[in-house]
Amino acid sequence: MTTDFDVIVIGSGPGGYVAAIRSSQLGFKTAIVERDNLGGICLNWGCIPTKALLKSGELFEKLDHLEDYGLAVQGRSYDFTKIIERSRGIAKQLSGGIAFLMKKNKIEVIKGVAKLEKGTSVPKVVVTAEGAAPRTLQAKHVILATGARARVIPGIGLVPDGDKVWTYREALAPKRPAPKSLIVIGSGAIGIEFASFYRALGSEVMVIEAMDRILPVEDEEVSNAAHKAFEKRGLTFRVGAKVTKLSKSAKGVSVALETAGKAETLEADVAIVAVGIEGNVENLGLEALGVKVDRGHVVTDSHAKTNVSGLYAIGDVAGPPWLAHKASHEGIHCLEAIAGKKDNGLHSPVPGCTYATPQVASVGLTEAQAKAKGLEIKVGRYPFKNHGKNIASGELEGFIKTVFDAKTGALIGAHMIGAEVTEMINGFVIAMTMEATEEEVFATCFPHPTMSEAMHESALEAYGRALHI
Ligand SMILES: Cc1cc2nc3c(=O)[nH]c(=O)nc-3n(C[C@H](O)[C@H](O)[C@H](O)COP(=O)(O)OP(=O)(O)OC[C@H]3O[C@@H](n4cnc5c(N)ncnc54)[C@H](O)[C@@H]3O)c2cc1C
Repeated sequence: MTTDFDVIVIGSGPGGYVAAIRSSQLGFKTAIVERDNLGGICLNWGCIPTKALLKSGELFEKLDHLEDYGLAVQGRSYDFTKIIERSRGIAKQLSGGIAFLMKKNKIEVIKGVAKLEKGTSVPKVVVTAEGAAPRTLQAKHVILATGARARVIPGIGLVPDGDKVWTYREALAPKRPAPKSLIVIGSGAIGIEFASFYRALGSEVMVIEAMDRILPVEDEEVSNAAHKAFEKRGLTFRVGAKVTKLSKSAKGVSVALETAGKAETLEADVAIVAVGIEGNVENLGLEALGVKVDRGHVVTDSHAKTNVSGLYAIGDVAGPPWLAHKASHEGIHCLEAIAGKKDNGLHSPVPGCTYATPQVASVGLTEAQAKAKGLEIKVGRYPFKNHGKNIASGELEGFIKTVFDAKTGALIGAHMIGAEVTEMINGFVIAMTMEATEEEVFATCFPHPTMSEAMHESALEAYGRALHI
């Protein structure tokens, strides 16, 4: 039996479920196929449960500084099982919320594994689920939102086994107490967030990064400041270091690495491999349909169209940046293009955040990227140690850096490190989406006292007009 829909979405992560809701809002008869829990990696094994853990870690660390605020508590301890249970409970709650949203928007949720087959003009979707006969679905438009999984480093021996070598899944829900010692391979946002969480609970944490600095996609000044701030909290690093072998040892795991030609072997209870992700492109029938795939990601145009008629791809499976908000954004954009809605010409840059302590957030070009493009730039910097609200809050670490195109005045990049910067970056994202210049940022009235006033000061500083330095 075949069932007809206007739109079928495969995968219910932030790409898929948001695309399905927008599809329904636009009047399309919509189905979503999911093999696992609704909400994808983001809600179940990514963005949300990590933030729950990080909150516990952050509060635990804060207890060390209560005296600074005139407060005191007797004793200090944590219950690891409860911390993990809280995080898993939040993931479950939010997954349930997606089920509610699907129902509210009259989206048919189909449980099972989807595979594409050749259809008349658009691929058919065949869904198999345990204990049920395969179901064939047809639609005018099929959207792949199958996400991605942790990348494994090939040829270094031990692959993640859930015991001594973890991916993000085991790191989020370990079947053992918090490790006393931990090696994190990879210093992108995911690696740094786990390093920050486990360090906050007292683990000895070493982070290994192959590039010459941690958080290598960030502006160099931010990377360097983050390195120092994390070291102050007891994290240790090896940068420019290549892991050559992972093996089990008496202690737990043994990691052989090479830094500038110097070999060493480190031991820890557990290693977390956080070296990026690869798209879920296998077993979807893509080869038989001739869908273009490049380095593990489905190739799409600016409207998420693949090279096969009626087939689209959004989110992690369609390539970097591998971020939830990018996935949702692409989902909305894709559906609006299908509905023939005219593009309003405004295009948002995609911000990136790392929710460690201190937090890191950025959008647009780094100073080095702007220079490499041959742009003449003006750069502003404003430290939080000067700033009233930060001083009142005891959050002196970090700064805000802004990058402007000197010729046009356009804001082309913003880079922040410090408390609450992941909540503030949006101000710059809106400004850049609206193509703001320094004049509009100067003319904006920021509420006082807020940490966000430092955004204003950073922009003013780029033009020699900062008020509080
Ligand atoms: C530890 C961690 C922390 C993260 N933190 C952040 C963060 O703070 N902010 C941020 O923006 N991003 C974060 N990310 C990245 C974010 O989770 C992803 O970018 C986002 O989930 C991608 O959304 P998606 O819809 O493309 O795919 P996914 O969320 O991966 O969802 C894909 C869904 O498709 C389903 N599926 C796959 N194949 C099939 C099939 N054949 N049939 C049926 N269903 C299928 C899967 O089961 C899955 O549910 C984090 C990731 C990790 C791992």
